[in-house]
Amino acid sequence: MKILVTGGLGFIGSHTVVELQNKGFEVVIVDNLSNSSLDVIEGITAITGKKPLFENLDLRDKTRLRAFFEKHQNIIGVIHFAASKAVGESVGNPLLYYENNINALVYLLQELQKKEQAHFIFSSSCTVYGQAEKMPITEDAPVVKAMSPYGNTKQIGEEIIQDVAKVSNINSILLRYFNPIGAHPTAAIGELPLGVPQNLVPFITQTAIGLRQELSVFGNDYPTPDGTAIRDYIHVVDLAKAHVVALERLVHKQNAEKVEVFNLGTGTGSSVLEVIKAFEKVSNTQLPYKIVDRREGDVTQAYADTTKANKVLGWKTESSLEDALASAWKWEQKIRK
Ligand code: NAD
Repeated sequence: MKILVTGGLGFIGSHTVVELQNKGFEVVIVDNLSNSSLDVIEGITAITGKKPLFENLDLRDKTRLRAFFEKHQNIIGVIHFAASKAVGESVGNPLLYYENNINALVYLLQELQKKEQAHFIFSSSCTVYGQAEKMPITEDAPVVKAMSPYGNTKQIGEEIIQDVAKVSNINSILLRYFNPIGAHPTAAIGELPLGVPQNLVPFITQTAIGLRQELSVFGNDYPTPDGTAIRDYIHVVDLAKAHVVALERLVHKQNAEKVEVFNLGTGTGSSVLEVIKAFEKVSNTQLPYKIVDRREGDVTQAYADTTKANKVLGWKTESSLEDALASAWKWEQKIRK
């Protein structure tokens, strides 16, 4: 069973390729290397003992994408990770984000629509909920106006998939990720942020290794027990496994609707200070940090209600916050050697 993984050399995509190959799926990766490198193929091969097929292709190149699908006619499912994902950059360059995240999605769906049937998994985000009123967040919490063009591309992407489902044989699962962190326990693959990391954990590991002088904690006056913002940090390997389960659900026609939505998180929220403490414990280091002003657009808290994913997908996270942080630290130490 051949599966196309777009953005399969990226952070979440590469971990998902590993889990797919471990389950016997044949994988073809499409990536334009805009935020990844060819070394990732070696990492995947080292872990699984199998080299995935790879094509260096930009999904916005409609002609080449059509030729790609003509060449790989036996693709039965697509997991679509490829996108631009830096929130701040999207505010400065919205058209880049609409072009990359929306055009690529449309061209992919146009190809899938030609098939008798197709299975499609879409990387969405908990940002669609904004600051949800109730914690933990269930899938039926309202989707609110996006705070950035990036967030908007996820909402529009979900709507496009819903509309296309009504007139095609494309069955889809929209996965709303909370905060993916960590690396493969072998440290053969992990996260490779370009420039200054926007996310907490890569910033922590880069500070611990000495690449950054200190960590900025954005705000300690939130209405939370220790005043810092709360998020649901999920180990990327747990997240990757959920994609395989979701794909199998579609392939075996177990889906109840043509488009299903699942939250992917641990169900537990951790504050920034709690993450720092947990990291110091697993790495046996002391992190220099300072409290600075809140960052615009950050919500107070967001953590998932995972009941639907647990019951319907039969999927559960297996790793703790400490496991995830330890794997991120092992990876940072490896890549800086
Ligand atoms: P990533 O940047 O590591 O991976 C994305 C990959 O897609 C990269 O390898 C990049 O080179 C490739 N790519 C981008 N545009 C492309 C194009 N036009 N054609 C071909 N390849 C292209 O990102 P990630 O963290 O692995 O995220 C994967 C998906 O999950 C994205 O859609 C992202 O928006 C979504 N998501 C990520 C997070 C997170 O915190 N990492 C949270 C929620 C949702």
